[in-house]
Amino acid sequence: MPSIFTQIINKEIPCYKIAENDQFIAFLDINPNAKGHTLCVPKQEINKIFDMPETLYLDLMRFSREVAVALEKTVPCKRVGMSVIGLEVPHVHVHLIPLNDMKQMTFQQKVTQSEGELNALAKQIANNLV
Ligand code: 5GP
Repeated sequence: MPSIFTQIINKEIPCYKIAENDQFIAFLDINPNAKGHTLCVPKQEINKIFDMPETLYLDLMRFSREVAVALEKTVPCKRVGMSVIGLEVPHVHVHLIPLNDMKQMTFQQKVTQSEGELNALAKQIANNLV
């Protein structure tokens, strides 16, 4: 069975998309730790990040950096944190989380936003991509 992120990539499940190219996609996390919590995902379904071919891994880091820069321009925060876990979804993804507080990296504290807010936020971040 394809991962939930492959289903998003295949447009079988909707997402609040921020960026996409032939190798990667970035969209808002559905259960965010903080406003603007974003996932950067390779289209190739690989379970663990350090199993990725080196070139793809480095390209994912470049893509994530571009999204993080746009995120920091859009969402007021002290800095954008980065985390890789994958215990819930075994398809490589980089979490980018606008941080004001260490607790926002714990995945214990969640924020709720309306569909309209999430749509508008994804568009604002996308507009700040260079
Ligand atoms: P991890 O696998 O790194 O532990 O966490 C997976 C992350 O994916 C979680 O933060 C969770 O909220 C997010 N997530 C799970 N399912 C979906 C989904 O269908 N759409 C989006 N946008 N995010 C999801």
